[in-house]
Amino acid sequence: MLYQLPLADRYQQLSDDELRAGIRRLKEQFGKRLVILGHHYQQQDVIEFADLRGDSLKLSQLAAEQKDAEFIVFCGVHFMAESADILTDNRRRVILPDLSAGCSMADMADIDDVEDAWQFLEGAEDGTPITPITYVNSSAAVKAFVGRHDGACCTSSNAKLVVEWALHGGTPNGDGGHKILFAPDQHLGRNTAYALGFPLGSMIIYDPAQRNGGLTAEQVRAARFILWKGHCSVHGLFTKAQIDAVRKLDEPYNVIVHPECAWEVCQAADLVGSTEYIIQAVNKAPAGSYWAIGTEHNLVKRVALENPDKHVRSLAGIHCLCTTMYRIDLRHLYWCLERLAAGEIANQVSVDTETRHWSKVALDRMLALRPTQPISAK
Ligand code: SF4
Repeated sequence: MLYQLPLADRYQQLSDDELRAGIRRLKEQFGKRLVILGHHYQQQDVIEFADLRGDSLKLSQLAAEQKDAEFIVFCGVHFMAESADILTDNRRRVILPDLSAGCSMADMADIDDVEDAWQFLEGAEDGTPITPITYVNSSAAVKAFVGRHDGACCTSSNAKLVVEWALHGGTPNGDGGHKILFAPDQHLGRNTAYALGFPLGSMIIYDPAQRNGGLTAEQVRAARFILWKGHCSVHGLFTKAQIDAVRKLDEPYNVIVHPECAWEVCQAADLVGSTEYIIQAVNKAPAGSYWAIGTEHNLVKRVALENPDKHVRSLAGIHCLCTTMYRIDLRHLYWCLERLAAGEIANQVSVDTETRHWSKVALDRMLALRPTQPISAK
């Protein structure tokens, strides 16, 4: 985790109204030179100042289209700011208001561990090629590794397409006989492979905390999917028991969950899909319908707010909050804008040239596989 210096006392003493007024004033001052991006999981106080709202990849793509923008303030987490830097030209400066806003899932795939895993897996194989795939929720270094090794990135919207592509070694004429190393989210990997018809027995877990991932060469040879032992600490909080409890209610709840949830949760749900898929499903649903949603707390709250004619609740009885994203607040947003107005680019996130090149290769391979419309992972 990167270290964020504590803010000066005077920022602690400002009221929310003073912070809002300050942010509004500075936004006006910068005009089109500044774009604030707000991820769907961001708290409402911050999202109100977002010029663009979306998931991480969509935001980075939209940022690249803002030709007048010099400064991109990404109200998300660190890997998202890296993606924005990778997908925009060198003229734009990407800023993360709080450097300690990381992603626990991305942190579970350290680049040194990924390099070690690759060495072991290649040595264990008997000639079957392995294609690496990384979820966009990973560091730029891991994305670059995948780019360098003929693999691609994926999102929760397009994971099926990317896995099919990778099984064929990235060529339309491939025999479909490749193996997949899927990192860092074992659940998205498992749910996607299962949705494509692969049995659970064809998948093994590579645990970076163990020597050789806790695997033997025979297990690697027998498997089709090698799933990295990583997960989202937020979506990991949803359980099948919560779905069973919702099913016992008198109201006819539709259960919709994100594919970062565990396999048994996805199997028990009615619908499984990305953040955008969840938003669209509820937005398009008939008035009066009931929805229990298994995803991040702030998004569920916003979907409920924007669909007052429907009954929307979280699948969990507890607040499943992305606590690292939550570190971006009005105080840090105001602070970084003030620094910017004073001529200092605080908390710039910048990816080195080599990493940038290869991670863009991995992202571009994915983007070439249109469509990237939200599709169900079930
Ligand atoms: S919700 Fe999960 S995957 Fe998304 S940023 Fe937070 S910890 Fe990472």
